[in-house]
Amino acid sequence: MGPRVAIVGGGPVGLAAALFASRAGLTPIIIEAKDSDGDKACGEGLMPGVMPLLYELGIDPPGHDLLGVSYRQGARQVDHLFPDAPGRGVRRTVLVEAMRAEADRQGIKRIHARVTGLTQDSSGVRVHCASAEDVEADYILGCDGLHSTVARQLGLVAQPSRRARRYGLRQHFQRAPWDSMIEVYYAGDAELYITPVDDETVGVAVLGPKGINLAKTIARVPEVSEKFNGVPAASSLRGAGPFPYRAHSAQLGRVLLVGDAAGYVDAITGEGLRVGFAQAREAVAALQSGQPASYPRRWRKVTREFRILTRGLVVLASSPLRESIVPLASAAPRVFGVVVNRLAR
Ligand SMILES: Cc1cc2nc3c(=O)[nH]c(=O)nc-3n(C[C@H](O)[C@H](O)[C@H](O)COP(=O)(O)OP(=O)(O)OC[C@H]3O[C@@H](n4cnc5c(N)ncnc54)[C@H](O)[C@@H]3O)c2cc1C
Repeated sequence: MGPRVAIVGGGPVGLAAALFASRAGLTPIIIEAKDSDGDKACGEGLMPGVMPLLYELGIDPPGHDLLGVSYRQGARQVDHLFPDAPGRGVRRTVLVEAMRAEADRQGIKRIHARVTGLTQDSSGVRVHCASAEDVEADYILGCDGLHSTVARQLGLVAQPSRRARRYGLRQHFQRAPWDSMIEVYYAGDAELYITPVDDETVGVAVLGPKGINLAKTIARVPEVSEKFNGVPAASSLRGAGPFPYRAHSAQLGRVLLVGDAAGYVDAITGEGLRVGFAQAREAVAALQSGQPASYPRRWRKVTREFRILTRGLVVLASSPLRESIVPLASAAPRVFGVVVNRLAR
């Protein structure tokens, strides 16, 4: 039996980490607080680069092909197709169900408990759970999302930046998709993301400052509000934030932070899952080599472009240039193409 890895958080990144760990000969055990279908506020766009990582893990969730991104502002529109393969819009619940099923097939143990604390010494770790027995292991992967309990327990949560904090909301509507692009609308101080997730359901996410309202943002964009006029909601409204959120380091001793738990800039590029799965793979490689301290370097390498591009786009979206983003993109299609091609990787 390989080293035991306690994975705190059974969201997509925790499940991916468990599957990578199992394939690497480690012994993962997932501890997830919620006894639910795994739903969460997310735009649910799997960028093309996510798909090979999922296939590598034996997962091919049903959804709706995404051919590219279409940015729209008033009468302006700039479209860019993903250069090689499509991405996929997939309901979060469908993705998590497929990943859980694969974890079960691999015989990975899953415990339902909220992690409240942890201790570590040179020989191993102990995870403290509310209403369940402690879990002993050799390592911990903290995959418990934004504002991670594991990061907080380690004293690794950085002070919030002074930059404006953003929030996200999402809801689904029961109607056939009208497009195979991710549509992004700049609507006042918020962005609206429309993602088809199956043949009968369209997801809508909004990102913006505190107090954003999904219905009001939709109402600001006539070409979207007319598509949803009289259409029933297919899910309840969910919210997430605030972001950015940052940890000082992605590793302390035998504990590694993976996915949103290690830091999250913004959802503006829709890349959280691709970069989270890449971190999961690197964290497992670091443990497999017996060198957890190599993880921060690996983490920086696989997240660098995401952090730089996302920060840049958030700064632009929060500046007076916001109103000019789509006109600028249409005036400089090559620059815009570079950004979208980058998202496609
Ligand atoms: C509005 C919005 C739109 C987005 N759109 C996209 C998109 O289109 N494409 C994309 O790739 N990404 C998108 N993202 C980002 C993406 O949702 C995240 O990056 C992704 O969910 C991170 O996965 P995770 O597993 O790290 O964290 P999470 O999905 O948050 O999972 C964390 C898990 O840990 C569990 N947990 C938490 N605390 C504890 C505890 N103490 N004990 C045990 N378990 C615990 C939680 O219950 C949860 O199941 C979006 C995000 C937002 C907010």
